[in-house]
Amino acid sequence: MMRPDFIIVGGGPIGSMVAKILASRGYATLILEEHSEIGKPVSCGGLVTERVIKISGVSNDVIMNEIKGASIYSPNGKEIRIGGDKKHAVVINRERFDKEMMEMAMAEGAECKCKWKVKNIHYKKNSIIIRGKEEMKCTYLIGADGARSIVAKSFYFPKVKECLSAIQTTVPFKTEQEYVKIFLGEKIAPGFFAWIIPEGEKARIGVGVKGGYFPKNYFLKFLKMVGAERKKINAGIIPIGLRKRIVKGKIAIVGDAAGQVKATSGGGLYSGIIASKVLGEACIKCFEKEENLIQYERNYMKGFGKELKKCMLLRKIFLRLDDKKMNKILSLLDEKDIEIINRYGDIDYPSLVAKKLIRNNIHPRLIKKLLNSRYYLN
Ligand SMILES: Cc1cc2nc3c(=O)[nH]c(=O)nc-3n(C[C@H](O)[C@H](O)[C@H](O)COP(=O)(O)OP(=O)(O)OC[C@H]3O[C@@H](n4cnc5c(N)ncnc54)[C@H](O)[C@@H]3O)c2cc1C
Repeated sequence: MMRPDFIIVGGGPIGSMVAKILASRGYATLILEEHSEIGKPVSCGGLVTERVIKISGVSNDVIMNEIKGASIYSPNGKEIRIGGDKKHAVVINRERFDKEMMEMAMAEGAECKCKWKVKNIHYKKNSIIIRGKEEMKCTYLIGADGARSIVAKSFYFPKVKECLSAIQTTVPFKTEQEYVKIFLGEKIAPGFFAWIIPEGEKARIGVGVKGGYFPKNYFLKFLKMVGAERKKINAGIIPIGLRKRIVKGKIAIVGDAAGQVKATSGGGLYSGIIASKVLGEACIKCFEKEENLIQYERNYMKGFGKELKKCMLLRKIFLRLDDKKMNKILSLLDEKDIEIINRYGDIDYPSLVAKKLIRNNIHPRLIKKLLNSRYYLN
């Protein structure tokens, strides 16, 4: 490829999705990926809705398990069972998912250079210069390079609101196959939660904590608590609170690089894939006219960006709850509330069920007093 029309830094699922869209329209698209193999290392719970499978175009072969609901454990150990008979989510083989995404991009004509770490990027005249193994030039640059994005850093994009730290392991573990387990509490996972995601004979067991806390000790304690052995662990950052700007001229950031992650669950696959579609369309419209990519930012903020903002508001409420308040709130959930959760619960659009719950709660005064935030979501 002489001089690509688009260079995408990062061969994760979001970079591959943008590449697939651009290459399918005939643009010379080059992906630069620092690792030697796509999909490795894996640092993801792999819990997504079936929507993700549909909109990403991967095969059903990536699905390892189907999930009907969750058991949520309050800090005092009380279990609340949500879900029902409907399939709410699936557990995917994340390595395979990433590989299929890249294969689709390449089938459309995109090129991927692995073991190509971008070390330095800057503007020179009308070109963007990218340095790594060699020097490359392009007019349009996409940063799909994850939470520690060098593209975002090099061009001084505003910071994400928070970076959570997470550790996960996959170990042999017996647990109910159709239910995920979520554990809350300051002593278990300050500022986030711990999880057990069933994967057949094994389970993905992880802990996420808010910034300023080290997840490893919490993780080891959690493994002990649930009686799981310690095996190879994967650590990762979950960037939440969308960056205020995701476009600067002909440079755009997308996926984790942009902080397009739901602050309620740490899930970034759905929101990132939605963003990559909006970005792909904007690139196609702008390329011929040599315009900047600002319509990507505008359209995303008008669309799914709104849901991400609501997730951030829900997180603000969550962070106000100490263990005592959390126990109280969860103890207030009755059959009617659980019914609402089962009916409207959607991990891609958590604000829907939150709104319904806050509006329908039969203890509005208590909720209001505890949260002082009843009108956040209106
Ligand atoms: C512990 C954990 C559990 C999670 N669980 C879930 C879940 O259950 N469901 C869900 O939806 N989401 C989950 N997520 C979030 C999800 O993994 C991310 O949102 C998703 O991976 C974002 O994809 P991406 O392509 O934007 O970034 P990434 O997947 O991070 O891909 C970025 C790519 O860029 C490459 N790269 C980075 N810097 C450079 C460079 N300088 N040069 C070249 N290449 C570079 C990286 O090697 C990587 O391949 C989880 C995250 C963590 C940490």
